[in-house]
Amino acid sequence: MLTIEQMSSLKGKKIYVRVDFNVPQKGGVIRDDNRIRAALPTLKYLVEHGARLVVMSHLGKIKWKEPDPAKIEEMKAANNLECAAIRLGELLPETKVYFSKDNRGEELKKAVEGLKDGEILVAQNTRYQKGEEKNDPELAKEWASLVDGFVMDAFGSAHRAHASTVGVPELLKAEGKEVALGYLMLKEVENLSKCVEPKEEDRPYVAILGGFKVSDKIKVIDSLLKKCDYVIIGGAMAYTFKKAMGMNIGSSPCEYDQLEYARTCLREANGRILLPVDAVVTDSFEPVEGRKILTVDTIIEKGGKIPEGFEGCDIGPKTREFYKEIISKARLVFWNGPMGVFEQDAFQEGTKAICEAIRGLKGKAFTVCGGGDSASAVKQFGYKADFSHVSTGGGASLEMIENDGHLPGVDVLK
Ligand code: ADP
Ligand code: MG
Repeated sequence: MLTIEQMSSLKGKKIYVRVDFNVPQKGGVIRDDNRIRAALPTLKYLVEHGARLVVMSHLGKIKWKEPDPAKIEEMKAANNLECAAIRLGELLPETKVYFSKDNRGEELKKAVEGLKDGEILVAQNTRYQKGEEKNDPELAKEWASLVDGFVMDAFGSAHRAHASTVGVPELLKAEGKEVALGYLMLKEVENLSKCVEPKEEDRPYVAILGGFKVSDKIKVIDSLLKKCDYVIIGGAMAYTFKKAMGMNIGSSPCEYDQLEYARTCLREANGRILLPVDAVVTDSFEPVEGRKILTVDTIIEKGGKIPEGFEGCDIGPKTREFYKEIISKARLVFWNGPMGVFEQDAFQEGTKAICEAIRGLKGKAFTVCGGGDSASAVKQFGYKADFSHVSTGGGASLEMIENDGHLPGVDVLK
């Protein structure tokens, strides 16, 4: 695969750069511009080398199934990418950054042709086009016809085979034009690849899985069980495993249709799946006054101790110590999914304990966090610098692990 630094002369070349500017925003006010900042190294490199950039990204969702055209227009208005173009202009004060409200047709073409070396044109949200998510060949053809080369830097969208992520580079490659990985992509692919193919010196390789649903994570569980020495489980999904073992989980969340799957996993893992031995439980998920929060043992066999009407919301103190001990021996760690309802103060300790354990591995092990909510927990609690890598792509980082390092937006560049 080519990296941007390996591209031949960029001066005067029009380059389509697919970035991930899918920022949290409301009414054009951006709450967190990290994704825009994450693309800066790539954009700066291309600008400094005299390329003319056509920058494209999606923002939010447009539900094309909606029958009412007025509602579609509302969704478009709510996901106008102009705010990201403005922010980019502020972050690159030396560079001319234009915004094109069209992302197709004559106006866009004219705007691209008007670009001078080192200038940037951000085009409107790719999802304003119905054909984007279907990888419509006509749309990809039109976009590809605007440029001389392609740089992929939208790791967060690399698991989607859309016109802007796969259609365009496919066509350009067929025409003998250069398609390359940007800096953000390169870092993500290099770091996550380490978790896909562990080496001997990476053992023990410990995966930590949490979050809400087993059914969302089946493929990643299967994949990690093949690669890892231990798979630590927390979060809501731990209760499905506990239930599968015949334990009493009170009113904890449980996916009854996944019990058989959980049993199969436990059998095949042969002791390598580690489950909580105690839990923090509550009689009210909603933080209402006077709710009861207790710590209970769940180690007891059938008929355990979570009282009826109480649900597990975090791993308990014994589990935290147990998991910290296992993690302290690891040489490679992949973590996805919080250990509890970390959005509430009362249920943060489990997730923090994992962060602490990973801090303790600094300099001794390679540690990766991938997943939307887990990454935001790591940042919120102030542990980002303690990880070797915190992925910017939630779904993409998981799919990369699931599919043995393959992602449509990466494979197309090969
Ligand atoms: P990620 O985005 O990191 O992949 P998920 O989306 O799978 O993680 O799960 C995150 C969500 O899981 C969080 O909103 C968290 O509150 C929830 N969660 C974790 N543990 C529990 C639990 N015991 N009960 C209910 N929800 C939980
Ligand atoms: Mg999530």
